[in-house]
Amino acid sequence: MSTTDHMVVACQGGERTALERRPVPVVGAGEMLLKLRVVGFCGTDLFKLTTGAAAPGTVLGHEIVGEVAELGAGVDAFRAGDRVCVPHHVPCGECTLCRRGNETMCETFRENLMEPGGFADTILIKPRATRMAAHRVPDAVADEAAVFMEPAACVLRGVHRSGLEAGGVAVVQGGGSMGLLHLLVLKAALPDVAVAVVDPVAARCELALSLGADAAQAPGGAAETAVAQLTDGIGADAVFDTVGGNGPLEAALALARQGGSVVLFAHAPDGERAGFDLNDLFKYERRILGTYSGALAEQAAVFDLVASGALDPTPLVTHTLPLDEFDAGVQLVKDRKALKVLFTPSRAAGGG
Ligand SMILES: [Zn+2]
Ligand SMILES: [Zn+2]
Repeated sequence: MSTTDHMVVACQGGERTALERRPVPVVGAGEMLLKLRVVGFCGTDLFKLTTGAAAPGTVLGHEIVGEVAELGAGVDAFRAGDRVCVPHHVPCGECTLCRRGNETMCETFRENLMEPGGFADTILIKPRATRMAAHRVPDAVADEAAVFMEPAACVLRGVHRSGLEAGGVAVVQGGGSMGLLHLLVLKAALPDVAVAVVDPVAARCELALSLGADAAQAPGGAAETAVAQLTDGIGADAVFDTVGGNGPLEAALALARQGGSVVLFAHAPDGERAGFDLNDLFKYERRILGTYSGALAEQAAVFDLVASGALDPTPLVTHTLPLDEFDAGVQLVKDRKALKVLFTPSRAAGGG
């Protein structure tokens, strides 16, 4: 393969993707070019694929660790060969939404600062991300841990917004990779927090317990009993729903204490309506809120947690495949045979 070409996983419309040869992006001032080391497959990628939301030609993927291949003019914070992790969304920091603390709603934030996307052998990082949000990965931190910094920052934002405090009790609905990442972030970020994980699959409950959960039970009566035991019967301070949809929302409200929070952390189909009792909010002062991404403060805080070793999400990685086997990786997630799937560069680029 010529050094001016690389392979990418391109959407083909609908759910189909194909490994495609493309020219390597040209590096401009303030930008940097990364050689992919690993990229995580995220629930948002799956959602976009299964709903056909991505236009043909789109390259998805945004949870990346790369190695600096080339630096544009004016970039002096990095050197060729540095391992780098960087998010694809960075707020402007100046608009009204940013100044009000809603950086993830900033118009600028939605811009994708990776070209063509994470599922590619090489990735161009745009100036705002290079300047404001890229971090050199410390030598002691594995790629498989650093790749979680973007999703873990999303989780941490939800934790902050929930109002949960040290010593509190949290419930996580869903023991998939995002649910278990909630468990690990909660334990790393808040001292003495108790966490119950709710999932219908016994093996996932066992894994949750081995990762430090204080309880893990199937949804329904078993979960309600476990949460009652952890909270002297009053219910959880915060419930994080990583499942999505109206049924799980009602289950989350039932597990949250009066005055507690429910954090929605999953896609719902467009237009899906909720049907909960309004007095859960008015009379019992519960709060329902959503979080879909992390901003600079959470990204920096998560970097510190991972760099210090307090947060080690590597046990969540069950499969690592070259980009050539993208479809197989997606299928593993769909069949619930995988937790976190990571992709390495294509075989043409020496991956696999
Ligand atoms: Zn993601
Ligand atoms: Zn802004």
